[in-house]
Amino acid sequence: AAGTRPDKHEILASVFGFSAFRRGQEDIVDRLTAGGKLLAVMPTGAGKSLCYQLAGMLRGGITIVVSPLIALMNDQVAALTANGVAAEAIHSGRDWQTNADAWRRIAGGHSGFLYLSPERLTTDRMLSALAKLPVRLIVIDEAHCVSQWGHDFRPEYLTLGTLRETFPQAAIGAFTATADTVTQGDIGDKLFGGDGETFTFGFDRPNIHLDVREKAGGPAQLVKLVGELAAGGAQGIVYCLSRKGVEETAERLNAAGIKAIPYHAGMDAHTRHIHQNRFLSEPDLVMTATIAFGMGIDKPDVRFVVHADLPANMEAYYQEIGRAGRDGNPARAVMLYGLGDIGRRRAMIDSGNAGDERKRVEWQRLNVLLGYAEAVTCRRQMILSYFGEASEPCGNCDVCDSPPSVFDGTQEAEIVAEM
Ligand code: ADP
Ligand code: MG
Ligand code: ZN
Repeated sequence: AAGTRPDKHEILASVFGFSAFRRGQEDIVDRLTAGGKLLAVMPTGAGKSLCYQLAGMLRGGITIVVSPLIALMNDQVAALTANGVAAEAIHSGRDWQTNADAWRRIAGGHSGFLYLSPERLTTDRMLSALAKLPVRLIVIDEAHCVSQWGHDFRPEYLTLGTLRETFPQAAIGAFTATADTVTQGDIGDKLFGGDGETFTFGFDRPNIHLDVREKAGGPAQLVKLVGELAAGGAQGIVYCLSRKGVEETAERLNAAGIKAIPYHAGMDAHTRHIHQNRFLSEPDLVMTATIAFGMGIDKPDVRFVVHADLPANMEAYYQEIGRAGRDGNPARAVMLYGLGDIGRRRAMIDSGNAGDERKRVEWQRLNVLLGYAEAVTCRRQMILSYFGEASEPCGNCDVCDSPPSVFDGTQEAEIVAEM
């Protein structure tokens, strides 16, 4: 590029070492570079940090990154520094002198990335010191923490709504992997006063075939299903609601000649560790598990995920099936759905110690999942629209495979007439 401004493709290659943007990244970089205010919702691993790091470099000056986790801040600072970019973190995990040195480097240099926890950023002292500096981009990572309807509300995130007034010239980018459309609206209101854009990208996992089946036939149905899915040595995860269900399912699968091991939080840490490693290293092994299993597991060739019981909500469901087919090859997600599960889930919500309003939201979320289970239109379209992403019928779900025949009023009238 000939201009005086560094070119985004050039930085993408020279600083980050990537040859191309992933879907959605370039739009977000462009809008932020132009000074926009936006919320970007992209799944974990989609590459959110690149969006704001590149935009920050293009805008120049100082980029503030608000992040709730010290470990996350340290990782990103280390990665940026290794790539030759000025970056510092100020947080409670460092001593006073280290923090003061970090501040001096960024404030003195008038440029670079400054990672802060929300409570550090929103002190009066920090805000008035920063207001004197060229802050050109403010990034709010894990932005779902702003919303009471998100799963991880943090009161200290609420004060971030004042940043748009303190730094009127700064672009603001809020990023999260988990926000349904209700939560997205709430985040936009709180951070931008309703005047920001929302970008949702990358939720589609087209290689995962989606399937929901009525629970009928007890444990034998589950064993038969897993037997079919695991045929030929395919590895998979069977999620059960209870620890007892996990243990019993593993026993039944083994009894049927399907090699399976259990995993749940009631097992001791040593055994859990061994089982996790076996799942990662042994071929043709099925893991029966509660939701305690899966966080941070990055095994590319999981071929199927079965839900033996109804998951908690759409977000949980989508995250759980997302553990299948990370290698991009065909994978399958099958949910068994029975009326008894609905009662169990509702009882779990009601007996929890959340407030009434929160319980009402949880009920609504459960209802969305029930709508999904009973869908007569493309299941993937339903999931994606839940996250705010538009799409066409997918051709890779049970509904697309065999659309339900439409049973209209005239047919009904004929049946009645015949009776
Ligand atoms: P997120 O914050 O969305 O969970 P990260 O920002 O941690 O995701 O990025 C996940 C991984 O994707 C990182 O290893 C990152 O280097 C890589 N990545 C991001 N953008 C690209 C790209 N355009 N091309 C290749 N790899 C990328
Ligand atoms: Mg991230
Ligand atoms: Zn479909």
